[in-house]
Amino acid sequence: MTVLVFGSINMDLVIRTPRIPAPGETIIGHEFFTAGGGKGANQAVAAARLAAPTKMIGRVGGDSFGVDMIRLLAESNVDVDSIFVDENVATGVAIIAVDDAAQNNIIIASGANSRVDQTDLDRLKQHLPHAKILLLQLEIPLDMIVAAAQLARQHNVTVILDPAPTQPLPAEFYPLIDIITPNEIEAGQLCNSVIKTKEDAFGAAQQLLGRGVRQAIIKMGAAGMVYASQEKADFIPAFQVTAVDTVAAGDSFNGGLATALFEGLPLPEAIRWGAAAGALSATKSGAQPSMAYRPEFDAFLKANA
Ligand code: ADP
Repeated sequence: MTVLVFGSINMDLVIRTPRIPAPGETIIGHEFFTAGGGKGANQAVAAARLAAPTKMIGRVGGDSFGVDMIRLLAESNVDVDSIFVDENVATGVAIIAVDDAAQNNIIIASGANSRVDQTDLDRLKQHLPHAKILLLQLEIPLDMIVAAAQLARQHNVTVILDPAPTQPLPAEFYPLIDIITPNEIEAGQLCNSVIKTKEDAFGAAQQLLGRGVRQAIIKMGAAGMVYASQEKADFIPAFQVTAVDTVAAGDSFNGGLATALFEGLPLPEAIRWGAAAGALSATKSGAQPSMAYRPEFDAFLKANA
């Protein structure tokens, strides 16, 4: 059995800079580095490093970033055999400027991610009979994501949607989602509300259940998580860590959540695993470089039991 990820693959091009330049201005930054990114690839790396057998389905372009991304994913033990190399387009990139106050500016050029189509769905379909969980996000075309959820439902595969970056979702999508995992801003956008307190989050979770999702988890950074199903609603505190960079904490959460569910743990414990993976990634900088491997993860859970 496997965890499948159907989603985006980006190369992050990061410049650390004293400050974000004004329009038309050129400034000298501190340093440049590249790192694997894209919400789909991030979630795949998070799950695979925690030792879930993880397969990525998506597209890269016919450039050197595509080669690099496939290598990086494979190095984290993600099965890359179903990633399609679309020779006629660029690999997705995110150009990220991070200033000394840790504020960032990000521009994404979706490239190959925006061309995910029926042929990718066909590859997904081949693997669904052997899958337990499907991780989805919103960085590839929405009609493909909804179709993937439909196929997963037919195969009794658990669908986990991270609705990021948020966009309005069609009403028929919600009943296909087993677990939705917005952060508080995304939940607010989906529910037309502002979420500041736990009570606000419980309200949003109930609204999402009302639209047909089976379980809703609202991630509120260091403030913890609210979850709700038809039977139960509860709050789970975050782990206490010294955060240096919360980039991809949400993706790490979903990787940890999926790994725990893959191993058969009940939802509250799986949320704790997600929170541990998110907290650990917040202690290091970068998206994929910040994600924990299983020994470090197990030690963290044990130390914080
Ligand atoms: P997103 O990246 O989607 O905005 P969050 O920032 O809420 O998501 O992070 C996801 C999860 O990671 C949180 O629910 C929490 O469990 C954990 N996490 C994130 N930031 C911190 C932090 N500063 N301290 C402890 N845990 C954190």
